[in-house]
Amino acid sequence: MKRFDGKVALVTGGRSGIGLAIARRLRDEGARVFTAQRGEDHEFEGIAADFTIPASASGTVEEVHERAGRLDVLINNAGIMQEALVEEMSLDDWQKTMAVNITAPFVMIKAALPHLRVCGGTIVNIGSIEGLGSNPKHAAYCASKAAVHGLTRAVAVDHSAEGVRCNAVAPGWIDTDLNQDFIGSMPDPAAFRRNIRKIHPVGRTGKPEEVASLVAWLASSESSFVTGQVWTIDGGRMAKLSLPQ
Ligand code: NDP
Repeated sequence: MKRFDGKVALVTGGRSGIGLAIARRLRDEGARVFTAQRGEDHEFEGIAADFTIPASASGTVEEVHERAGRLDVLINNAGIMQEALVEEMSLDDWQKTMAVNITAPFVMIKAALPHLRVCGGTIVNIGSIEGLGSNPKHAAYCASKAAVHGLTRAVAVDHSAEGVRCNAVAPGWIDTDLNQDFIGSMPDPAAFRRNIRKIHPVGRTGKPEEVASLVAWLASSESSFVTGQVWTIDGGRMAKLSLPQ
């Protein structure tokens, strides 16, 4: 018997990066997995959605329920990051980050709750260590991820007694295409790679599969007494104080 046999999961942004690793993990453990994003998904039952439009996000939940007849696991993973100082960021860009990173999880949870209540379902939101600290020029991203952590706690407080648990994970530096491209854009990518390893007590950056492992545990009944928590997964980076070089 696998942990997700007979369960239906929706993973937003599940065709790439961390979301793909989560979708594969849930599928490998027995779930029927839907993903939702703008692009086509050739591996899972993909639903085209643009999370800058709230009705598109909530419509995704309804489509899963129409096609599968239930929803057991909601993973709010889709997210974007735009770099700019507050004074440089347009209101449109601020609102786009907020739309995808926090308004979409809100409307998805709102649409999913009636279905999750029926089966004692679980929600896992993907936050970030940038909901706890900040890198330069990340005002919108940091604000949105701190909001994800707050929403997680509030939903857990309001709905855990109904059998719906809600947790978040706060990943640190995870090796996705996005981050590889970022390193590639550095003047000295090899030096950047060496330095990024040094700020991690484990001596390396993280893998999407490592985040997926924690998410799967939180989404499963093995974590049945765990709710309203933000789980940092960062190779010890947040625990390490910086010293002058
Ligand atoms: P990716 O860019 O690989 O994945 C982001 C996903 O979100 C894509 O599948 C994308 O699909 C989807 N998406 C983006 N914009 C929209 C939109 N408007 N509508 C619908 N879907 C959208 O990034 P990661 O895997 O790195 O990140 C996944 C999550 O993890 C994000 O929430 C991110 O903030 C968080 N995170 C990542 C860290 C890292 O180091 N990688 C660290 C901490 C947190 P499509 O383009 O097809 O729409």
